[in-house]
Amino acid sequence: MEKLVALCKRRGFIFPGSELYGGLNGTWDLGPLGVAFANNVKKEWWKSVVQDREDVVGLDSAILHHPQVWEASGHVASFTDPLIECKVCHARFRADHKNNITLHEKTHQEKNIWTEVKSFNLMFKTFVGPIDDEKNKTYLRPETAQGIFINFKNVLETTRIKIPFGIAQIGKGFRNEITTGNFLFRVREFEMMELEFFVKPGTDKKWHDFWKQERLQWYLSLGIKKENIKLVDLPKEDIAHYSKGTTEVWYKWPFSSSSGKSDFGELEGIANRGDYDLTQHAKYIGKDISYFDQEGNERYVPYVIEPSVGVGRAILAFLIDAYYEEEKRVVLKLHPKLAPCKVAVFPLLGNKEELIVKAKEIYKILKELFGGAVMFDDRGNIGKRYLYQDEIGTPWCVTVDFETLKDNAVTVRDRDTTKQERIVISKVSSFLEKKLNS
Ligand code: ATP
Repeated sequence: MEKLVALCKRRGFIFPGSELYGGLNGTWDLGPLGVAFANNVKKEWWKSVVQDREDVVGLDSAILHHPQVWEASGHVASFTDPLIECKVCHARFRADHKNNITLHEKTHQEKNIWTEVKSFNLMFKTFVGPIDDEKNKTYLRPETAQGIFINFKNVLETTRIKIPFGIAQIGKGFRNEITTGNFLFRVREFEMMELEFFVKPGTDKKWHDFWKQERLQWYLSLGIKKENIKLVDLPKEDIAHYSKGTTEVWYKWPFSSSSGKSDFGELEGIANRGDYDLTQHAKYIGKDISYFDQEGNERYVPYVIEPSVGVGRAILAFLIDAYYEEEKRVVLKLHPKLAPCKVAVFPLLGNKEELIVKAKEIYKILKELFGGAVMFDDRGNIGKRYLYQDEIGTPWCVTVDFETLKDNAVTVRDRDTTKQERIVISKVSSFLEKKLNS
């Protein structure tokens, strides 16, 4: 993990938040490559969950909601974690993170150091308008899901969609976690990719199973190795009170999961939320938010299947899975669709004008083709340029050499095999495009 964190900083993927001021715990900033990488992850999620389907639509709700939303959803009363404090040094911990507790007891060489367990609400409070009083208090959303539930009627009334259907949203969530750590794994501000899929009660088990497989396949299709990922059905005592069943996608992290039981831990949650949320909102506003099913000529409150994952946690899993240390190089074998830079174009020598001109011509064509995700580099020797591209996960490098000026062909180097192929310039675009989509 330290090596990965160092690579991310060194190459401009991820910087510690507010580093200039000594840092702000639980925040990270995405650098030039990080933002491109995160955008690719979000694009692939949106494609698979919204664009490739006919039964899911998108939404982008406000981050701030009316404060009653959070009362109705149960977050004010119970979006809490169990908190305990060390009586010796006043450090605070999550009571259910046994690993951290044991480690802390070791530093004091004493077990009897803890206060009673208290409930700590994880929502960040804020005020709407210029008066800081209870009446104007609301919260930064800890999940994007409620923005979807409060727009359920709006979406139904403005689209031609029928149950079963889903509403998907990507956006920031904020949780004042008691402790943060393991890089992007547990932070206080993060983007979430959430789908609320509304179904007829009774069909919920079938749809839950469907989304479990669908989500697992998504990770596999983007290169996560089979042995590093699995679905785990949570036991009743570990699931939220409203959930009718929760399955998690677990990834094999290179650190112990918070319970300390194993290195496999939550990457994504896939919950069957039943009719809890819509029923709660209907109760609070005193209006019906049920669905009229024309086919069955019946009215019901739909059940909801919710796959939910943090963009940062997904990024971390993709990075860990792609990180390889080989004899002469460190390489990120990212899936080409996720790689922040698809192709790098080099003139063999940086001081030969005719090579630079040719390389720039190819660079411009590829940049257009790959939506900007192409680099031009003429600094240092070619070996160093390859190593740099390997470290940032660029799948292909194209080199213009003196032969090019005679045969109009370039060398295309593959990141994973380091094999080089000679390709005629007029065929480079289609060659790379084919590889990207294979
Ligand atoms: P935990 O029990 O570990 O605190 P949770 O069960 O409350 O997590 P969910 O509410 O299911 O988490 O959140 C959905 C997803 O959002 C998680 O699977 C994870 O990918 C992401 N996530 C949740 N909390 C964080 C966090 N603090 N930092 C980064 N990602 C998070």
